[in-house]
Amino acid sequence: MTKITSLPADDATCGWYHLSKGRKVQPPHLGNTSARWAIVGAGFTGVAVARQLALNFPNDHIALIEAQEVGLGSSGRNAGFAIDLPHDIGADDYIGDIGIAKTTMKLNLFGQNSLKELVDQFNIDCQMKHCGKYQAAVEPRGIAVLDAYRNGLDKLGQPYAVIDADELPEHIGTRFYRKALFTPGTSLIQPSALVKGLADSLPANVTLYENTPITDVEYGDKVVLSHRNGSITANSLVLSNNAFGMHFGFLKGRMLPVFTYGSLTRPMSEDEQNALGGKPFWGTIPADPFGTTVRRTPDNRLLIRNSFSFNPDGKSNNKYAARFVKQHRESFERRFPMLPNMNFEYTWGGALALSRNHEGYFGKLASNVYGVLCCNGLGVTRGTATGKLMADWLAGQENELIDFLLKSPGPCANPPQPLLSMGVNLNLKWGQYKAGIEA
Ligand SMILES: Cc1cc2nc3c(=O)[nH]c(=O)nc-3n(C[C@H](O)[C@H](O)[C@H](O)COP(=O)(O)OP(=O)(O)OC[C@H]3O[C@@H](n4cnc5c(N)ncnc54)[C@H](O)[C@@H]3O)c2cc1C
Repeated sequence: MTKITSLPADDATCGWYHLSKGRKVQPPHLGNTSARWAIVGAGFTGVAVARQLALNFPNDHIALIEAQEVGLGSSGRNAGFAIDLPHDIGADDYIGDIGIAKTTMKLNLFGQNSLKELVDQFNIDCQMKHCGKYQAAVEPRGIAVLDAYRNGLDKLGQPYAVIDADELPEHIGTRFYRKALFTPGTSLIQPSALVKGLADSLPANVTLYENTPITDVEYGDKVVLSHRNGSITANSLVLSNNAFGMHFGFLKGRMLPVFTYGSLTRPMSEDEQNALGGKPFWGTIPADPFGTTVRRTPDNRLLIRNSFSFNPDGKSNNKYAARFVKQHRESFERRFPMLPNMNFEYTWGGALALSRNHEGYFGKLASNVYGVLCCNGLGVTRGTATGKLMADWLAGQENELIDFLLKSPGPCANPPQPLLSMGVNLNLKWGQYKAGIEA
């Protein structure tokens, strides 16, 4: 029996969750049930596994188990960029090996297109806009990243536009940045609304159990997943619970639960919208990976996302959000001096599962246990794609993308604690310091 020693505990202050439509939360699991397939984790990855398994095996019963409410976990609390392009922060030009970059792009587009089709098919109201993204810089380091990224995009044959400082206000209002690269292929979403909508449109042979944290697991011919009110016995288990997969006994110490933080303002008044100027909605990611992500949402709020903490147990910790809201305020004031009275209505944190070699996990963890884990901060499209492909692989399919994922070495090993925490914390501090005013 494996005891799950840490359970998800996200804060209750995520703006996307509160601003998306309320829904009927599915009841927790009670008693003892059997299912052909059990999936733990109902974020973008888990709902994609569940939907595709249900389509591939229409006569099988699939149990999708979520510790919290759908839309409250990381999938509902991210910045909402469904990115098409490879984003290899380990490579100087963000593109790296051209063969890998081309396949990564196919994977991302596969995820992005799947999301778009589902949004259209089920009429999911999630503010999806295929409006591209800006990658913007102000520090010399950031400008150098943009120049390198341009070369990478040329190598990949992908379109972009260079936007200089004097033109940027027409796009995003602020005069803060010195340069940006616009790439047209990214979609922006309201993440909590999207993942809720996806969970509410699953096929009939999926049963979703919310507020059902799995506390014990017994591996054998069948897998028994226990919780405080009963158990689910499954022929096969798919883990799609990101860094919490480590607590189920796999990839121990290889995934790093790093939290990052977001704040969302109240809606701008018409005067404030005029004072800001620019397009009605847009998204900007930082050239420096430790910098600030900014969005103007279709409902006229501004999002600031920056700051990191290493929370080895994967749980949120209120002390960080209280500390980082000050950083959000400073980042906001640097960018939007024309909006002096905008308060943040919401501030929250959320977990990324990072690996030092930027590799995720896709494959077989034990004889009847499979994993799609370690999002590396890009789970909106990537989680959707890999979840769907996992279900196809389990149905015996083979293709270029499945092959690519199976060949990945997976997340690399890390030094033991306390060295690990010391190293990660130092890295995060140094990275944020180097980002300068881009943070
Ligand atoms: C502030 C922020 C901004 C981000 N911005 C972006 C972005 O713009 N674009 C992008 O692509 N990505 C972004 N990310 C990353 C993105 O949110 C993740 O990559 C994505 O959520 C991963 O999806 P997932 O389904 O694999 O995992 P998760 O969303 O983490 O879902 C796993 C689920 O497993 C559940 N679980 C864990 N343990 C158990 C258990 N014992 N029993 C039952 N259930 C369990 C959890 O409650 C959780 O809901 C951002 C993340 C944050 C925090």
